[in-house]
Amino acid sequence: MFTKQINSNQSCAVCGDKGGTNADACRRPILSVDVEDYFQVEGFADYVSRESWNEWPTRVERNTERLLDLFDESGTKATFFVLGWVAAKFPNLVRSIAQRGHELACHSYWHRCVYRLTVAEFREDTVCAKTAIEQAAGIRIRGYRAPSWSITAKSLWALDVLAEEGFEYDSSIYPIHHDIYGLPGALRIPYVHRLTGDRQLLEFPPATVSVAGVVLPVAGGGYLRLFPFAYTAWAISRMEAAAGQQVVVYVHPWEIDPEQPRIAGRLRSKIRHYTNLGSTEQKLRKLLALRRFQSFEQLLAGGAQDNSADYSFQRQAIETQGLAAQSGSSQ
Ligand SMILES: [Zn+2]
Repeated sequence: MFTKQINSNQSCAVCGDKGGTNADACRRPILSVDVEDYFQVEGFADYVSRESWNEWPTRVERNTERLLDLFDESGTKATFFVLGWVAAKFPNLVRSIAQRGHELACHSYWHRCVYRLTVAEFREDTVCAKTAIEQAAGIRIRGYRAPSWSITAKSLWALDVLAEEGFEYDSSIYPIHHDIYGLPGALRIPYVHRLTGDRQLLEFPPATVSVAGVVLPVAGGGYLRLFPFAYTAWAISRMEAAAGQQVVVYVHPWEIDPEQPRIAGRLRSKIRHYTNLGSTEQKLRKLLALRRFQSFEQLLAGGAQDNSADYSFQRQAIETQGLAAQSGSSQ
């Protein structure tokens, strides 16, 4: 289990610790940032072509710097899943994130839904993004988050590609019903994908709660903006009280920028994107005051590279392989 409800002869699957000294890190919630600009989101993709990205006034640098300043106030370290396009255009921003003690990870290059790509297209996009981020910062990255949570039943093949390209963990599978993403029925706790060639990949689902059998999103982004803060706080407490749960929260730099230019789009997209932009920074402050957050890197520190770590998620891994087998025939 990823929390310390293990017995004394077992090691924690994540930190590898046997004695409980890292129990605090194992329980602390994860804070993550998907570093992209306001015009690069899926909701406006039909209105903003990728060819036109260079013509839009960018705000990702200033907004990310504001998040970095905000996190510094509480000494919070987070994982920043950076879009490859952003890393190539703003390498100094990528360096700044790393120099300020945060973890860098990958959010694809072109922010295209994985289930719309071929295996070859996905691999090329992922390698380009990983290279751009790693070259900007001079470090190796380990984590991946798909644009729009787009690793679904149609694209579980992407997990093999990620493992083959050297990624160690993924945080892309949202176990909810949604019109553009989600894998209903997927595990709501961290687990291990057992992949071809004896490869494996850790999976960290975004935070959810189950109420009367319905899985509800908690994790951040639009849900942090749209739902009352009391709901977010209640859901985090509820997750922490449940065995094996790991709270994973996410935000976007554009979500604290009420002054961003408005884009014409479908009403639903505009509601999702623009609601409560003016109050999100305040909500984020309250969230950072509520708990001490950490990055995936901090959670994984202390033994995750040890392949002999006693992963106790075999049963769940088999279930995941079952899902992969179901979808494999469609590729
Ligand atoms: Zn994104």
